[in-house]
Amino acid sequence: MLSPSVRHILGISGGKDSAALAVYLSKRVPDMEYFFCDTHKELQETYEYLDRLQARLGIRITRLSAERGFDHWLDVYGGMLPSAKMRWCTKKLKIEPIEQFVGNDEAISYIAIRADEKDRKGYISTKPNIKAVFPFVEDGIAKADVVRILEESGIGLPKYYRWRTRSGCFFCFFQRKIEWVRLADEHPALFEEAVKYEEERGGEGYTWTQGETLRQLIGRREAIIVEFGRAEARLEQRRQLYPGPNRPLAEVLSGMLDDEDDEPGCVVCHV
Ligand code: SF4
Repeated sequence: MLSPSVRHILGISGGKDSAALAVYLSKRVPDMEYFFCDTHKELQETYEYLDRLQARLGIRITRLSAERGFDHWLDVYGGMLPSAKMRWCTKKLKIEPIEQFVGNDEAISYIAIRADEKDRKGYISTKPNIKAVFPFVEDGIAKADVVRILEESGIGLPKYYRWRTRSGCFFCFFQRKIEWVRLADEHPALFEEAVKYEEERGGEGYTWTQGETLRQLIGRREAIIVEFGRAEARLEQRRQLYPGPNRPLAEVLSGMLDDEDDEPGCVVCHV
């Protein structure tokens, strides 16, 4: 049985699902502790979204990793940029700060996995004093509900959803090629910063995105846009052929492509 001093914690990633969960629970769990793991490399839109959440809900979001951001840990790791195989960034900038934040206290961690994301688990601590709960899964809250919750609250979606559907670092290696192209369009200075990391810190053969450098990728800009447009058109065609819940399983699975943020990425960063 949980003691009365149990803490209630909710990690805000800067994405829509955790924001909607904050709205959903802000009145039901008045002593909720909200936190955000700040890599210091988030988009400006993300920081603005956090400010909007705080103002609208009257909550305080504690910034974890406020002292030591990505560049500090990059130096500690000898300049080795992170990748899907060497994901020290998640460990150092997300997991360890969360576990330090909780310490040995008994805590309930509210995870913003939706009811329509059955195969996704989110970050679940292995520490026995942290118990994960999934309110959206329990209450059958799916993607459309999340969007509605945010609209009704007046908070809406993060501004970056116009061109990218993931929260997280601007240079996150989980980005799709089209997202890199859009980063170059929306935030050319950040794209150049990512290029600089790759060229000056990346070491032999390192690339943020699979199979090519960012300069090569941006040289293929038009081709990437065309290919993305074709993929979108194919998806739309499939949606029209198999609308609603009766779509065959294969189509439903391939439909995951239309949700970039639903692709398996960094489960700690993008929920
Ligand atoms: S958003 Fe991407 S780059 Fe940033 S900490 Fe998470 S996995 Fe690493």
